[in-house]
Amino acid sequence: ATPTAVMVGSGVGAKRGILYRSGEALEKVSGVTLVAMDKTGTLTAGRPRVQAMRAAEDVADAEVLGWAAALEQESSHPLARAIVGATTEQGVRVPPAEDVYTEAGQGVVGTVNGAEVLVGNAALLHAYGVSLPPDPEETWTRWQQEGATVVWVARDGQWVGTLAVADFVRDDAVDLIQALHRRKIQVAMLTGDQTPTAEAVGHKLGVDRIFAELMPQDKARVIEQLRHEGYHVLMVGDGINDAPALVAADVGMAVGSGTDVAIEAADITLMAPEISGILRALTVGKKTLGKIR
Ligand code: ADP
Ligand code: MG
Repeated sequence: ATPTAVMVGSGVGAKRGILYRSGEALEKVSGVTLVAMDKTGTLTAGRPRVQAMRAAEDVADAEVLGWAAALEQESSHPLARAIVGATTEQGVRVPPAEDVYTEAGQGVVGTVNGAEVLVGNAALLHAYGVSLPPDPEETWTRWQQEGATVVWVARDGQWVGTLAVADFVRDDAVDLIQALHRRKIQVAMLTGDQTPTAEAVGHKLGVDRIFAELMPQDKARVIEQLRHEGYHVLMVGDGINDAPALVAADVGMAVGSGTDVAIEAADITLMAPEISGILRALTVGKKTLGKIR
């Protein structure tokens, strides 16, 4: 691309909240044949809420919620905000936590009142040798089929409760996916969430491919696989977890509230809150190339 044309393209983009790292980014985005998107915070609204919970027999709901929130206060994950928010709404006291750390793509671990607490997905509990409770009334199954993320809480090696945290599918996500399909662009959803939840959300959105239960490095591997299949891949993500995938893609795009890590790893940053900006980013790339050729 000539420097002038790239600047024109970048200028139009910047006015609409689309920042291109380089002229090359602008060029690469025009040939995209598959858009891969992270679920949490990208395809969903990013305002999840605790919709239901069930505690083990010997503990109270409020205790479990308090232990979970104690750790989640230290986390910036959207699920963490939901869990902390629920304690405020319900007037639940949150005990102090110590030694809290994040297991990327799995959850948080820490100490509350001298007990080791885990809050996260099934893989986190497995990794710490905690057995999941049975699902006699298919409660967990039903929550997942409704598209909720099931969050498990364990204390001193025992399961103590489960929360259903649900987020809304963004209206503009459905529109975006339809618009991409009209342009013959395939859409894939990548998530660290469990398969049944991912499928429920993915089908609602109408995505073509669903990849679930992915660790951050798995997301990058999926991107490489898709490129191997011959797709020119745009990866859209918002979190620390998405950085390896953003780098692995032909074009990486960080969205809205994206973390610094995601923005650094991306070729394009979308500042606008509406993800329809993804479509605009593709259009600006095409138009600019049209001017050059
Ligand atoms: P996504 O790929 O959908 O953006 P992440 O990679 O951030 O999701 O997380 C994958 C899964 O790990 C989540 O679906 C959740 O089950 C679990 N998880 C991650 N962070 C947390 C947290 N702070 N609290 C509870 N669970 C978490
Ligand atoms: Mg995410």
